[in-house]
Amino acid sequence: MLEHVHKKELEKIMDTGRISYDQPLAPYTSFGIGGPADVLVQAEREAELQALLHFCQKHAMPRFILGKGTNLLVLDKGIRGMVIHLSGILSYVEVKENTVIAGGGASLADAAAQAARAGLTGMEFAQGIPGSIGGAVIMNAGAYGGEMKDIVTRVHVLSANGQPAVYRGVEMAFGYRVSVLQGTNAIVTKVEMTLQYDDPAEIRIRTEDLQRRRWDKQPLNLPSAGSVFRRPTGFYAGALIEKAGLKGYRIGGAQVSEKHAGFIVNIGQATAADVIALICHIQKTVREQSGVLLEPEIRIVGEE
Ligand SMILES: Cc1cc2nc3c(=O)[nH]c(=O)nc-3n(C[C@H](O)[C@H](O)[C@H](O)COP(=O)(O)OP(=O)(O)OC[C@H]3O[C@@H](n4cnc5c(N)ncnc54)[C@H](O)[C@@H]3O)c2cc1C
Repeated sequence: MLEHVHKKELEKIMDTGRISYDQPLAPYTSFGIGGPADVLVQAEREAELQALLHFCQKHAMPRFILGKGTNLLVLDKGIRGMVIHLSGILSYVEVKENTVIAGGGASLADAAAQAARAGLTGMEFAQGIPGSIGGAVIMNAGAYGGEMKDIVTRVHVLSANGQPAVYRGVEMAFGYRVSVLQGTNAIVTKVEMTLQYDDPAEIRIRTEDLQRRRWDKQPLNLPSAGSVFRRPTGFYAGALIEKAGLKGYRIGGAQVSEKHAGFIVNIGQATAADVIALICHIQKTVREQSGVLLEPEIRIVGEE
């Protein structure tokens, strides 16, 4: 809950049309789940972002960067403090020769589509990943043998205190769904991805093939946050869950997908509490049956 005096100060940084108080976050997540943010702001420029960071520091207000909310479970009581969403110039995409330059808030799939139209190969894997560029870099998103690690050459960030910095691709310490930026509170503002030239028709064929494979295997018609668990060494989470007899298992509105057991889907009015209870049940059952502890890949944020 923001005090009146804080609201007035915030409204000097950005116009009120881009600030919302006690804003439910369910519409901002692919799960369609999530309690309210004390304040949600749409930041359009880097200078505005810096002003917001200083505001949060001054008032010791926690803050959270929301990408496209496709790897998140926001808990039912929501997020205290400020939730920042990147838009405007912070979400543009531009192609210069063989480099795609995209704002942290840009859609990864849009950037991949623009690359393909420009006859650039290397982002075919990314067209079916529904997140933002910033979220994809933080998580080192990947699919079908491709990952951000392969294409990212520069990452522009604002550090926790608003200082700009640039990381080269090799400095990002990308690994399986990890990067050096996790846990640093830095904000990805812009990313440069270097690709190779290829025949646009060939790129389109490869992309369509991957999209078809996704539609065949994944429950894309229902709200979810993608794969819930990290891939345990030597196993597939979905296969272990299926082997434990949990395909279709349901708690409240949360269900282990009948199509792909690695996904939890919201089959209507699921709460975060339903999803958490289901995650715990899956972990317990799989551990008992296979001896493997599944660790969540999705980010669980906010207050229960
Ligand atoms: C149907 C479906 C399919 C999916 N398939 C895949 C897949 O094949 N491969 C894969 O890797 N993932 C997949 N995902 C998961 C998800 O799309 C990716 O992890 C994606 O990269 C998350 O991006 P986002 O913008 O949604 O991040 P969010 O979920 O909004 O946030 C994730 C984390 O990134 C942080 N973050 C977001 N933006 C920024 C920024 N600009 N600066 C700093 N931190 C930021 C957030 O604070 C949070 O900690 C899938 C999800 C769905 C729903």
